[in-house]
Formats: sequence, C-alpha cells, structure tokens
Amino acid sequence: MTTLNESNTKLITKVKEYLSDEDVKKINEAYKFAEKCHSGQLRKTGDPYIIHPVFTAIYLSNMKMDWETISAALLHDVIEDCGVTFKEIEKLFGRDVAGLVDGVTKLPTLKISSKKTNLSINNEISRAATIRKLLISTSEDARVILIKLADRLHNMETLHALDENSILRISQETMEIFAPLAHRLGIWDFKWKLEDESFKYLFPKSYKEIANLISSKRKEREKYATRATRMLEEALAKSSIQCLVEGRVKHLYSIFKKIEKYSNLGKRFDEIHDLIALRIVVNTKQDCYLALGVLHELWKPIPGEFDDYIANPKESMYQSIHSTVMCLDSYPVEIQIRTKEMHNTAEMGIAAHWQYKDGVDEDGGYLNKLNWFRNLIDWQIELPEDENYIDSVKTDLSKERIYCYTPAGDIKSIPEGSTPIDFAYEVHTELGNEVNSALINGQTVPLNATISNGDLVEIIKSNSSQGPKLEWLNTDLGFVTTSKSRFKIRQWFRKEEKNLSIERGKGVVLSLVDKLKIDLPLEEIASKLKYQNLDELLLLIGSGSLNSPKLVKKLTTLINYGGRKNISLKINSDDRVGLIRDVTEIISKEGLNIISISTNDINTGKSILIEVDSNGLEQQNKIYSIIETIDGVNSIDTI
Ligand code: MN
Repeated sequence: MTTLNESNTKLITKVKEYLSDEDVKKINEAYKFAEKCHSGQLRKTGDPYIIHPVFTAIYLSNMKMDWETISAALLHDVIEDCGVTFKEIEKLFGRDVAGLVDGVTKLPTLKISSKKTNLSINNEISRAATIRKLLISTSEDARVILIKLADRLHNMETLHALDENSILRISQETMEIFAPLAHRLGIWDFKWKLEDESFKYLFPKSYKEIANLISSKRKEREKYATRATRMLEEALAKSSIQCLVEGRVKHLYSIFKKIEKYSNLGKRFDEIHDLIALRIVVNTKQDCYLALGVLHELWKPIPGEFDDYIANPKESMYQSIHSTVMCLDSYPVEIQIRTKEMHNTAEMGIAAHWQYKDGVDEDGGYLNKLNWFRNLIDWQIELPEDENYIDSVKTDLSKERIYCYTPAGDIKSIPEGSTPIDFAYEVHTELGNEVNSALINGQTVPLNATISNGDLVEIIKSNSSQGPKLEWLNTDLGFVTTSKSRFKIRQWFRKEEKNLSIERGKGVVLSLVDKLKIDLPLEEIASKLKYQNLDELLLLIGSGSLNSPKLVKKLTTLINYGGRKNISLKINSDDRVGLIRDVTEIISKEGLNIISISTNDINTGKSILIEVDSNGLEQQNKIYSIIETIDGVNSIDTI
C-alpha cells in the first residue's frame, strides 16, 4: 500500500518537472482543499479517500497535462461526494478548473445491458452510442474525458476491494466503453492498462495462463530480443542512423486476442517469437524510411505484412511504419519504426496536444491535432447508429485480406473482393475520389471488377476533379465493397453539400446587404456578430439553420438606423394587370405609408418606383421578402 505522503510527494515531484512554481503552488492548494473535503472518507481498500484523486492526478501528470487538469483531477469527486458547489470551486480555482470538475461530474452515466461477456450486435450498438455520447458531451473540452479515463484507471487498479458483482460489471464496462474510448483518442498508455486490468477479472483463467506463459519463457525471450536488437543496432549504426531499438513484450490482452485469432486460423502460436515486438525510434521522418531500408536488407520482409502509417496516419493521428520480417532463426517478428514525436503521440494520443501548447512541432502538426479531436467528434456524430453499419464493419473485419501491387511496386493489403475503387480509397482518399478508370495487370477493367491476390492495379485519375459518383454507393452495382470506401464517398458528398450550402448562403447574404444598403464587408459582419468566420455564418444561412429575418434582427444591433426613414424601391416586374394594386395592398397591410408611387411605363407596369416610410431594417427586410413573393415580381432594388 502506498502511503498518502508518498503519493502526494510523487505527484508534486512529477509536476515540478514541467510546470512553473506558480502552477505547482496552485496544484498544492487544490490538493489541500480536496484533502479537507474528503477527510474522514475511506476507500473500499481502507485507504483515505484522497489517495484516489491523487493517483488520478499522477496518471495525468505522466502525460504532462496543464495545472488546470491536474487540479481538476484532484477535485474531481468533491462536487459529487462532498457537496461542494461549482461556485465555490470557481471562486477558489477559477472558471477553467470548475468547468472541468463539473464536466466530469456530469458525464452521462453508462448502462451495460447484458451480463454476458460475449458481445452481441445490440450490445455493440449501444456501446457505440455510449462512446459517442461521451465524446459529444466533452466536445467542448477533451480534458474532461482524460480525467475520466485516469479516474477509471485508478478505480480498475483498486477494483479487488469491491464485491464480485461490482467487479464484473465495472470490468465489463471498462472493456466495452473505456478501453475503446482510449483507443479512439489514441491514448495507448491508458488503453492497454485498462484492457489488461479488465481482462484480469473477465477471463481470470486465461489471464493467469498468459501471465505464466510470459514469465516462464522470460529468459529465452529476453536472450532472443537482445540478440535481435543488437544486430539491428549494428546495422543501423553502419548506415549512421541515430536510433534507439527496444524489444518489448506485448500486453496480455493483445496476446490473448492473438492466440484466439491463431486458433481460429489453425495457426500455431509461438511462445517466444509471437510475444515479442521490436521498435526502432529515430530522430526524423527521413530516418524512418532509411531505417526501413536497412531493416529489409537485414531481414526479409513478409509480403503484405507491411503498413505505412506515416504516409497514411490513422484517424487518431497515429504514425509509424509496421513491418513483419523474417527475423533471427527464421521467425517472423513485427517491427515498428517511428520518430520520438510519433512515439509520444502513439502513447498519449490527444493528450500529447497539451504538451505542445507553447511549441510548434515539425510538420505544423499542432493545428492538426486540434482539428483531429473535432473531426473525431464529427465522425462519431456521422456514424449511423444502426445494425447495418456495425454489420458492414464486422464483415470487413472478417474478410480475408489479399495483396496487390501499385504500379510503383508497393504492396497493398486489401479485403478480399475489393474493386479498383476500394483499392484506390485504400491507397489514398484523394485517389479514390478521382478514379476515372482502372487497369488490372495492364488490361482495362470495369470499375466493379474484383481484384485477385497478386494483381498489379493501376488507377487512372479523371482530368476534371468531379469527385466520386453517386452510383458508386448503389449496392446493386458493386462498385465498392468496403465500409471504408462507402464512408469516404459519403464524406465527400457531405463536404460537397457543405460547400454548396456555403455558396447558397453567400448569395442570400450578399443580396441582403445589397438591399438593406449595409456598407460593411461580409467578413466584418461575421466577426461583429461573433461567428468564428464568414463560412460559419454562410453555412448556417445556406443550410437553413439561420433565416434571413433572424440575421436582419442581429444586424440591427450593428447598424444604427436612426428612427423612421423613407426608403425608395424599384420593383422590376413582368407586365401584369393588377400588379400595382397587389403591391400597394401588401404595403398598407404592413401599416406603412406610401409616400409616392410611379412607374416608368404606366400602361405596362414594368418597373415600379415606390417610396415608403419604415421604422427599421427588420421591417424593410419583411417588405422585400413579401413583395418578392408577389406573382410577376422579378427583383427589387433599393435606390
Ligand atoms: Mn473518482
């Protein structure tokens, strides 16, 4: 048992490594306050309660989170368990900290419906829905979810003190919701710990077997890893590549899954080599590829067992090269190659963002990281919550993978049954969006042809970038077979719709400012009305979320209209009997006085000039809108 003093010292030592004295002082105050609030309360383990928030804070300090997050972690249970109010925390520690504590307290509660550990489809849907709910509820501030994950990790590590039912329920919830959530956010360090902790309780027998397996062959394994590491280091040093080579054992739950997969495939699981993975960490992206060359010269790559997540990062920003090679003594071993920065992102995912707050990293990836969370949320919202979706993902996963070649000789792994369009989306989203025609082994083929193992696939791009065709989504035509392609195509159309909405919105706003004689650039209007940018305003208008009367109402706060005013309108219209009567009727119905009216041709009624008095922009806009709907009116100009 760790004593309270020890753990608190650990926390303070850790935050001193990367935070200013001033920040550390604030953390200390949060600690004192939390300790006072929880005093007398005990954990089920018999420890003083405050141990729990302190550990939650330690896990976050390992990721170098800011002082607000650490303080909020220390305070995360005081609203719920000690009756402290939001206002009190706000007064003592500021709005940011109070917001985070409040966010953690208000996270949606989770419900795991079934007791079975075998996941049914329904379960997966509710799981996806819960993860989405959690993500959306924190879309304002991702730090809330990081605190929740650290909180959960410590609860898992002290779970043994609870009764058996609670242990099973909480373990299952962790395996189904929190580990996948950590995975989504790219926080590998939390993901594997959460998985192993739940694995221990959900499958105690397998857990023990694998733990024994790992310890029994430790010596042989370490010897093998050391030999392999040394050979690799020497080869890399010869090519003057600075690097660090690490041999590591995979985490228990991933071994469990690998054993399961092997037994399904009837493959023998090797107790030494299948437990090992090697990693090369280098300084630059360039070095990653150089190291890959050295690696493949040293040990033969296994065809198809290669992924370049540097060129094609995962959704979570994960970057690395994965290659399985025929390693020492002819055993296949998986090797990862990445830079230190990529390694950091791989371990901490979204949390890495807070570390770069003040710095700028190599590829300007800083902004990307911010966008990444946004995209993730968008993606979650877009994910359809139905069986078909889950089904199609499952189908993808259950399909065997085949290998084919690009014209440059690169190997690509694609699900069996893939078409040239699927292949193109597998290579790059842009390529998928621009497919015009395709050749397999030099022969032109229809776009719904099926690729076979070993085929050389060449994609011809279209000259005009028209984007994907809607018919590609028609399942009867068989143009695409993977859920990835379908998702990318839908995404393109959604983006296209967005652009069209912006265009539409622009038309509406331009004619509005023109009619109302508002002499401000659109950008300025958007920023004065507190929109993030002009596009946001235009999108709201173009998609109908904001209508023009509402916009005009907002505009009146910007523009000083100055009492009643006479306005002159020129109505361009068709030649229609009774038009003037209709126009005047509508105007007087609105309670406006017509001051003068004339037409340039009294007989035909073409273009009516009319002067009325109005009491503001809103009324003016209303008149325009109503007159515009009169049959025969083509356009209105303000003179
Ligand atoms: Mn807690």
